[in-house]
This record gives sequence, C-alpha cells and structure tokens, in this order.
Amino acid sequence: MASIFSQIVDGEIPARVVYEDETTMAFLDANPLAPGHTLVIPKAEHERLNDLPDDLASDLYDTLHRLIPVIEGAVDAPASNVAFNNGEAAGQEVPHVHGHIIPRFEDDGGNPIHAIAG
Ligand code: 5GP
Repeated sequence: MASIFSQIVDGEIPARVVYEDETTMAFLDANPLAPGHTLVIPKAEHERLNDLPDDLASDLYDTLHRLIPVIEGAVDAPASNVAFNNGEAAGQEVPHVHGHIIPRFEDDGGNPIHAIAG
C-alpha cells in the first residue's frame, strides 16, 4: 500500500501543492500548527531521512532551503521551525520522509516542535 504522501504525489488524494519538481514536492499540512505549515517530501517513497540516496537527500535539502524564505514571506513570519520526525518512536506518523516548515511569529506562545514530536 502506497503511503498517503505517495497517493498525494500520484494525484489520488488532493493537497494544496505549493511546489513541485522532478524529484520533490511541497504541500500544506492538513492539520497546520501555524498558518503556512508546509511539508516537503521526496516523491519517491522512503521511510527515513537516512534511507534516502545521496542525490535525493541533496534534492530534498535544496527544495527545503529554497522554500523556507518563500513560506515565511507568504505568511509574513519572521522565523520558522524546520524539523523532521525520523522514526515512529520520534513521533513520525507518516512513513514517508517529510520535513516540516512551521512559520513562527513573535509571541505566538509555544514551540510547535513539541507538538510535532508528540
Ligand atoms: P509526522 O508526525 O509524521 O512528522 O507528521 C505528519 C504530518 O502529516 C502531520 O502534521 C499531519 O497533519 C500531516 N498529514 C497527515 N495526513 C495528511 C494528508 O492526507 N494531507 C496533508 N496535507 N497532510 C497530512
């Protein structure tokens, strides 16, 4: 069974896609911890960051690196938390590598890293 994120890649499940290229994709989180909360994934299904081949890890980092200022700018956030839950015991619920970009605002009252590592 393909992961829920592979189903998004294949267009079988709708998502609010904000970026796509040959090997990576980014879409808004369905349960955002902040406005603009975005997930960045490799299109190919790998469970953990350390499972990625080098070239795909590099592509994923490039996309993340490029999108952070775009997402922050889109919601006028001065900062963001950028995080991966890597493995079930670390709170990873979807077994398909994904980086979270969670915009942060002055005095927004909490650290979403705690929430995504639940
Ligand atoms: P994890 O806990 O695995 O790091 O995070 C999984 C994230 O995927 C959660 O923030 C959750 O809201 C998000 N998510 C789960 N299913 C879907 C879905 O079908 N569509 C979208 N856009 N996000 C999802």
